[in-house]
Amino acid sequence: MWTESALRIVWVYPDLLSTYGDRGNLLVLAHRAGQRGLPVQTVEVRSHQPVPTQGDIYLLAGGEDAPQARAARRLAADGGLRRAVDRGAVVFAVCAGYQILGRSFVAQGRECAGLDLLDVSSDRGASRAVGELAGEVDPTLGLPMLSGFENHGGRTHLGAQARPLARVVVGVGNDGETEGAWSGRLLGTYAHGPALARNPDLADLLLEWATGQRLAPLDDVWSSRLRAERLAAVGVAEVE
Ligand code: GLN
Repeated sequence: MWTESALRIVWVYPDLLSTYGDRGNLLVLAHRAGQRGLPVQTVEVRSHQPVPTQGDIYLLAGGEDAPQARAARRLAADGGLRRAVDRGAVVFAVCAGYQILGRSFVAQGRECAGLDLLDVSSDRGASRAVGELAGEVDPTLGLPMLSGFENHGGRTHLGAQARPLARVVVGVGNDGETEGAWSGRLLGTYAHGPALARNPDLADLLLEWATGQRLAPLDDVWSSRLRAERLAAVGVAEVE
């Protein structure tokens, strides 16, 4: 199944978790790796299939409550994602996928067990968070402002083992103060957009984690324009 020399990107459960165009994250990663001459193999794993353990990057995306709860149950029973994380795989998870990585989340009024891979737990906010999201990224990650679009009812609380991905400048994110979380090679965010089209430096960080290589910059004129437009729409200036 696997091409040994290729960077293996696994899109987890597109049949349950792909509501908000987050498949774009897969396309962006594959494109940016290809532009550096890195051979890429992408695999889409549906929820009736086992999650392969030999991938390099796993992507989990947004979803409505019912498919989100089903995805969490299937992933826990399958165990493949946990084994992949144990071998050091990179995981990038958005919104429902981010909540699933945590200890627990609330869907359709019920508390559901997460995979307990990231030290976060999610409950429900008084209102749905919908709109532009921008945040100053954790300086240790060396990334520019996070830009995205959020659409979620959940609120996420970080434990001591998880670091916030960003401090919220516009929008809600986890709780109005922080947005997303990361720990080791696991990174979760509420940013749709898709996130990696709006944040190409974040895409490159994930590729660097997975390959262990420093990657040469690309000509990002189109994503720079997209970022500038979306950040200007909410009154945030991009600092070069
Ligand atoms: N169902 C979750 C919530 O509303 C996640 C939504 C999403 O993935 N956009 O919080």
